[in-house]
Amino acid sequence: MAAQETVDHKYVYDFAEGNKDLKDLLGGKGANLAEMTNLGLPVPPGFTITTEACKAYLATGREPDGLADQIAAHLDALERGMGRRLGDPDDPLLVSVRSGAKFSMPGMMETVLNVGLNDRSVVGLSAQAGGNDRFAWDSYRRLIQMFGKTVCDVPGEEFEHALDEAKRAKGTTNDLDLDADDLRGLVDAYKKIFAKHTGREFPQEPREQLDLAVRAVFESWNAERAIVYRRQERIPADLGTAVNVVAMVFGNLGPDSGTGVAFTRDPASGAQGIYGDYLANAQGEDVVAGIRNTVPLQELERIDKTSYDELLDYMARLEEHYRDLCDIEFTIERGKLWMLQTRVGKRTAAAAFVIAGQLVDEGLIELDEALHRVNGAQLAQLMFPRFRLDHEFEPVAKGVGASPGAASGKVVFSSDRAVELAAEGESVILVRRETNPDDLNGMIAAKGILTSRGGKTSHAAVVARGMGKTCVSGADELDVNVPQRRFTVAGKTVTEGDVISIDGTTGKVYLGEVPVMPSEVVQYFEGTLDAEQSDDPLVRAVHRIMTHADQRRRLAVRTNADTAEDAARARRFGAGGIGLCRTEHMFLGDRRELVERLILARSDEERDAALGALLPLQRADFVDIFKAMDGLPVTVRLIDPPLHEFLPPLEQLAVNVAVAQERGEDVAKEEALLAAVRRMHEENPMLGLRGVRLGLVIPGLFAMQVRAIAEAAVAVVRDGGSAFPEIMVPLVGAVQELETVRAEAEKIIAEVVGDSGVEVLIGTMIEVPRAALTAGQIAEAAEFFSFGTNDLTQMGWGFSRDDVEAAFFWRYLELGIFGISPFESIDAEGVGRLVRIAAEEGRAARPGLKLGVCGEHGGDPDSVHFFHSVGLDYVSCSPFRVPVARLEAGRAAIETAGSDSR
Ligand code: PEP
Ligand code: MG
Repeated sequence: MAAQETVDHKYVYDFAEGNKDLKDLLGGKGANLAEMTNLGLPVPPGFTITTEACKAYLATGREPDGLADQIAAHLDALERGMGRRLGDPDDPLLVSVRSGAKFSMPGMMETVLNVGLNDRSVVGLSAQAGGNDRFAWDSYRRLIQMFGKTVCDVPGEEFEHALDEAKRAKGTTNDLDLDADDLRGLVDAYKKIFAKHTGREFPQEPREQLDLAVRAVFESWNAERAIVYRRQERIPADLGTAVNVVAMVFGNLGPDSGTGVAFTRDPASGAQGIYGDYLANAQGEDVVAGIRNTVPLQELERIDKTSYDELLDYMARLEEHYRDLCDIEFTIERGKLWMLQTRVGKRTAAAAFVIAGQLVDEGLIELDEALHRVNGAQLAQLMFPRFRLDHEFEPVAKGVGASPGAASGKVVFSSDRAVELAAEGESVILVRRETNPDDLNGMIAAKGILTSRGGKTSHAAVVARGMGKTCVSGADELDVNVPQRRFTVAGKTVTEGDVISIDGTTGKVYLGEVPVMPSEVVQYFEGTLDAEQSDDPLVRAVHRIMTHADQRRRLAVRTNADTAEDAARARRFGAGGIGLCRTEHMFLGDRRELVERLILARSDEERDAALGALLPLQRADFVDIFKAMDGLPVTVRLIDPPLHEFLPPLEQLAVNVAVAQERGEDVAKEEALLAAVRRMHEENPMLGLRGVRLGLVIPGLFAMQVRAIAEAAVAVVRDGGSAFPEIMVPLVGAVQELETVRAEAEKIIAEVVGDSGVEVLIGTMIEVPRAALTAGQIAEAAEFFSFGTNDLTQMGWGFSRDDVEAAFFWRYLELGIFGISPFESIDAEGVGRLVRIAAEEGRAARPGLKLGVCGEHGGDPDSVHFFHSVGLDYVSCSPFRVPVARLEAGRAAIETAGSDSR
């Protein structure tokens, strides 16, 4: 029933014209409504106004040419199809107007139901509903309320107060006790509220209602809460939303009507079965808002078996069709089932792995697809610790385990307070009766969220799951009093600032702080839990998918580890070597004194003595590390930070010296130290005497380290082990720096290694932009490059890596200058370009040059994909990120499979 278009640009699509692959244009909801329509499922008819129309509106502040006519044509077709006209006084067609962006943004944008009702059509609606006046007036008051709030910014509380007032007058707390007369009175009250705030009467013209509602949906794309949500979820800001105009069906027509949400598998655990909530005699918003408590979906079998069986059939068809967990919204109008929405459902990290594994077993997807459907962020979540529970900890309440994890913190009752305390470094649990989109900032700041109302599909639950944040919803034993900042439960009162613990897996709530224990997934990685023997479906799924990722990945994954313990753990986690062993910590603790002697040395002899004392200590450090990584490569980086970092701070020394002098004590040593610190003081130490510069200035320092590395390797080999040391020079900007270090190092290595068979590679970090730009020259003197993307980002952007994130990144994020800190995820266009240039020019000068990355980005999922695309040989990251990097390296490989020639 496509209407004839009168202009070139098509802004409106009938449901029968779209399909699930048109999400960019029709948004997720519109594309999936079209898909269900085409599958022959009972979808109320309607049409979708495209994201293009929204973008045009947002760019110019007015509807694009032709849109109004296209809406008129599609509305006309809809009216003909339904045999009713919008807002007809005798037999009205009513429509809902719903937002629907490409990526789901639960509760972020606007919906207006019952558009088309006015003072006259309310009577027609009643007749349509068999003389059900109560229903008609309830629908009308809902329209004024939603329209007023979302389209005209009337404060929602005013309507809530009027509703409470009507219930109070009736002596009830239940909406359902209000009769038609009460609701008619409420409509009058609502209209007055509307007129008071907008300066106009509630619009009676149905098409005007529709146009204003469409416009409000467009504008909701740029509402503050939608912007915050997009930033949090990394959804691009320029996509715009589509608008769906759908013929209304009613779940509030009596006990044989209702509305619900269904999942084809459990979105929390991934278990197979029927999951969902049902609410009789209600409209869809009531379920999501958690206003009344729902019943489990299984109850529908008893209430309306025909609809239940039909629903199960559609659920099976949808899952088969989408080959994935689907979530569904439906309404039953007087025994007739309508499908209002479906989409590939959000799920917890655990469910993502479990479902991917199950779908492989069921033959619906291949292992590659299973790998594609999980990600490193989810795996990282599964590695979080869980509560260690014993008899001491009795839960005080149990709600719905809405988003897994274990969180303890101070109770707060408002979003603002959550943000305030979190900024002071406190862990907080945001406690609300239910959350709404205005709570978003508080939810982001909190460690966990606890609500006393709402199920697995409440706002709190959906948003928390999306953020990977622990959430317990619907803990209805809690009596939450937000104004007084306290809740009571089991006879106890908990006030703001008290500590509680919530378990988002079991839904249990505890008073006080419960200690935590490692997750099963970590135990599996540690090797203390055998996946093949385990009956935990999660561990088995993780094992299976990780094994596949390892088979598919081209990138090796190494670890950044400075101690034998870290190295051993990373090895258990699957690291194939050490990509960065920083040696700085080896100069701290009780070795500080030796470093002081080195710095204060007044003669070559004194300096050599200090270095001589450091040598065996360093050698022992390296022996331990080589042993832990027996058989695998270990990149040891020569000392990097400025030496004064190993001395006491200037101010503290100056005070000590002054005080000691005052007391007449002997301060010769302190004075010498103070003079050295003064001499070495730098305005910009990060750009000062550090890395290779230090090695060139302090004779013997690098030589001592090189000797220690070579001697350690020889010792390990002579002991029957195998060691593959790679010596890495930091902060090189010019090939001459590297050549100088290399010449000295080669002599020492030749002397130490002798005929032991040990081979020592010498390479460099690429972390100064000049090094990246002269990589062709530098490669002549380097057997490997390791990109130090922390410094490369610092120097590429000119951002101090220690200060800027806290200082002003919020503003850059707000302005969209970048969507995520470039210290967290590689800036592919800028810093990444330096990496690409260096990789290409380095390899051109020295084919077979080994390339890796050891900055923080090595464990960041998006960055891993980038490094794969550049053709690096390995990424190196902290031990806990190693599984994440393995998984993402596998995903990167399958995503580029076919186009990947390397
Ligand atoms: C880097 O700069 O990315 C790097 C790994 O070195 P560091 O963080 O020690 O400066
Ligand atoms: Mg560095």
